[in-house]
Amino acid sequence: MSNDQTMRGQAAANTPQWQKSDHQHYLHPFTDHRELGEKGTRIITRADGVYIWDSEGRKILDGMAGLWCVNLGYGRQELIDAATRQLQELPYYNSFFQCTHPPAVELAQLLGELSPEGFNHSFFTGSGSEANDTQVRLVRRYWDLAGQPSKMTIIARKNAYHGSTVAGASLGGMSAMHKQLVMPVPGIVHIEQPYHFDLGGGLSPAEFGVQQARLLEQKINELGAENVGAFIAEPVQGAGGVIIPPETYWPEIQRICRQYDVLLIADEVITGFGRLGQWFASTHYGIEPDLITFAKGVTSGYLPLGGTLVSGRVAELVIAEGGEFAHGFTYSGHPAACAVAVANIRILRDEGIIDRVREELAPYFSQQWASLASHPLVGEARSIGLVGAVEIVADKGTRERFHKDLGAGTVCRDACIENGLVMRAVGDTMIVSPPLVITHEQVDELVEKAWKALDATAAALGAAHA
Ligand SMILES: *Cc1c(COP(=O)(O)O)cnc(C)c1O
Repeated sequence: MSNDQTMRGQAAANTPQWQKSDHQHYLHPFTDHRELGEKGTRIITRADGVYIWDSEGRKILDGMAGLWCVNLGYGRQELIDAATRQLQELPYYNSFFQCTHPPAVELAQLLGELSPEGFNHSFFTGSGSEANDTQVRLVRRYWDLAGQPSKMTIIARKNAYHGSTVAGASLGGMSAMHKQLVMPVPGIVHIEQPYHFDLGGGLSPAEFGVQQARLLEQKINELGAENVGAFIAEPVQGAGGVIIPPETYWPEIQRICRQYDVLLIADEVITGFGRLGQWFASTHYGIEPDLITFAKGVTSGYLPLGGTLVSGRVAELVIAEGGEFAHGFTYSGHPAACAVAVANIRILRDEGIIDRVREELAPYFSQQWASLASHPLVGEARSIGLVGAVEIVADKGTRERFHKDLGAGTVCRDACIENGLVMRAVGDTMIVSPPLVITHEQVDELVEKAWKALDATAAALGAAHA
C-alpha cells in the first residue's frame, strides 16, 4: 500500500469518530444541526488542483472552488511559501497607531495598479462581511464630511448576499436571515432583483433589465435623493443563484446613481479577481463604482482577507478633511494574509490566468454548460465568465417548478456528490463556480457529471411522484 492509501485508510477508519465529535462540539455556519446530526458530515481531508478528497477516499471535482474563493485551485506552493516566509519574519503586527508593514503596503499598491481607474486606496478587513460593514461606515463618513449628513440611507436588493455580520445581513436581501436578525440595521432598504427567469414575466431580458433598474430610481424618489447615500449590489448575484442581469441593467443603474448623486458600491467578493475574465466585473459591465468590496478570490481562500477599494472621490475627502475614521480591525492588513494575496495576484497576472478565462476558458465553459439546457429537467442554463446556473423545473414549457417539499435542488446536490462533483443548490437552482485553472477536459468532466446527476434527480423525483 502506498503512503497515500495508508493515510486515507486511517482517515476512513476515523470517519465515524470525526462525525460524532463534530456533532458534539462544532456549530457549523448556515446549518440545520438536527438534520446534520442525522445525516453525518462529510469530512474533507485534502485537496489538489480542482479536486478535493473526503475521509472515505472519494475524489470529488470541486465545482464551487471551495466557497467561490479558490481561484488558483488547491496546492499552489507559492502561496504556501509566501505565508510561511511571512509567518517566520513577522507573523503579526497591526496598522493602528501610525504603524504599517511591508506586505500590507505592497498589497495596497498592487491593488491600486490593477483596480479600475480612479481607485488608489484600500482598506483591509478579515472577511467580505466586515468589508461591507466598512462600506456602511465609509458611506456615512463620506456624506457627513461632504456636508450632507442626511444622505444616510443605503439601498440594496432582495435576494442579495453581502455577508452575515449584522450590517452584512441587513444589506443582504435574504428573508430567512432578516427573520432571524429580528432588527435589521436602520437606514437600509431593499428593491427587487433583476432575476429574469423567475420575475421576467413576458418581458424581453432587455426590457426587464431597464424596468428593474428603474426600481432604484423609484425608491430614490420615494425616499428623497437628499436622504440616499449609496446603492450596493453584486455585479452578478452569487449566493442568490448566479443571477446574471440583462445587459441593459447596469448602464441604467449607473445613470441613476450619477443623476441623483448616490454612491455606487459594487460588491465584488465573488466577481473580483478573475471570475468574469477581468480583475473586476465592474470592468466587464463598464460600471464605474465609487467603492468596491472584495474578499474570497483575493487570497484564493488560502488565508482570510477582505477589504474595500476606495475611489479618489471618497478617499480624498476622508483624507483631506482630517479627523479620525473611527473604524478598523485587529486583523486589518494581517501580514501573512496580505503576503498570500500579493503572491496570489502575481500568479494571476504573470501566468495570464484572467486573460485565459476571458479569451479561451469562459467561451468553452459557456458552450459546454449551455448543452445542459437540453436536459428534460432544465428550464434554463446560463453562465457568464466561470460561473453557471441551471434551473430545475418540472415542466420545461411552462417553467413550472417542482413542489417545494420535494427539495429538487437538494436531491440534485446529493446526486452530484454521488457522481463525484460539488455543485451547490440554491432552492432549485444549481450553481457552479470552478477554480479558474480548470482545464477543458475538467470542464467536460464537470458537465458530464452534472448531466448524470440531473438524470439521477429526474429518476428520484419521478419515484417521489409515483
Ligand atoms: C461571501 C460573500 C460575502 C461575505 O464574505 P465573508 O468572507 O463570508 O464574510 C459578501 N458579499 C458577497 C457577494 C459574497 O459572496
